[in-house]
Amino acid sequence: MKVTEHLARANGKTLFSFEVLPPKKGENIQTLFSNIEPLMEFKPPFIDVTYHREEYVYRQRPNGGLDKVTVRKRPGTVGICAAIKGRFDVDTVPHLICGGFSKEETENALIDLHFLGIDNVLALRGDPIKSEPGFVPHPAGHGYASQLIGQIAAMNSGRYLDEEQQDSAATNFCIGTAAYPEKHFEAPNHAADLRYLKQKIDAGAEYIVTQMFFDNQQFFGFVERCRAAGITAPIIPGLKPLTTKKQLTMLPRTFFLNLPEELVEAVAQCRDDAAAREVGIDWCIQQSRELMAAGVPSLHYYSMGKAEAVRRVAASLF
Ligand code: FAD
Repeated sequence: MKVTEHLARANGKTLFSFEVLPPKKGENIQTLFSNIEPLMEFKPPFIDVTYHREEYVYRQRPNGGLDKVTVRKRPGTVGICAAIKGRFDVDTVPHLICGGFSKEETENALIDLHFLGIDNVLALRGDPIKSEPGFVPHPAGHGYASQLIGQIAAMNSGRYLDEEQQDSAATNFCIGTAAYPEKHFEAPNHAADLRYLKQKIDAGAEYIVTQMFFDNQQFFGFVERCRAAGITAPIIPGLKPLTTKKQLTMLPRTFFLNLPEELVEAVAQCRDDAAAREVGIDWCIQQSRELMAAGVPSLHYYSMGKAEAVRRVAASLF
């Protein structure tokens, strides 16, 4: 079922949804299943699975010299979505990115998803890879998420790139898109970022999931700006409980967000990570309560490979 249908059926009740990462190459899928298992008691209508792009690394040849090889540390998003859906009978949302994909490869991935009975896609541009100074599109791919959304929307109308597919039934994906309450790091200002978000909605995105934030005022302000700009799509807040002291610097550096001073002070005073984790969980519970009271359609938790803190937050609210 489509994410938008789940939201409509909830009739104003806030749902609980989760984002998980594919297992690292070489790990067993059972590890992922055991991370998801405890989250199922919150009856998530959908679970997102992230997409991780390949990186380039140099490997020493035995007889000297270097080989440039591509590695993907967390492969398998499409198959993992099908496996989670089969195992837990829950809708899954694969993330699909522009980076590293030609339009034809994107079409093939979407045809696979269609065959597998997956009804939703979160369409993203993807971040620059470490070996590139900024985001470099695939020469035959898309430079912005809005273009990827346009391609999926075209397939939903039965328009394929592959001539031989033209007689195939149209796909029927529900398309989600990402947004940033504190602004995407490359956008010159909030107004430009909002203009491009509107472009993604106009191209066919039906709902929005936000980057994580730790100050609800950032989210409320963002929703207000969206509504004023004529964006009526459901906006799902993304949340993550802070769990280590190191995240005080890692989260702002990685996700370009601000941590409120009250949270920073409380975590900085913690003796160790165990204490910081309690502060982080408590903060996330308070944030979630306020967002629920404001009537958000779903609380979407980023597990980042570790579900226990997220489980504790959801357990205190469900
Ligand atoms: P876009 O919407 O294309 O925007 C990228 C930048 O370009 C923005 O600054 C925007 O303002 C600007 N822009 C957009 N359109 C135009 C235009 N026409 N002209 C000029 N500028 C424009 N990354 C992954 O690699 N894998 C994942 O699984 C993943 N999941 C994510 C899930 C969520 C909920 C979020 C919020 C992010 C996720 N990301 C993921 C990270 C995301 O890919 C990066 O933040 C990326 O840098 C931007 O992606 P986007 O889809 O928002 O890009």
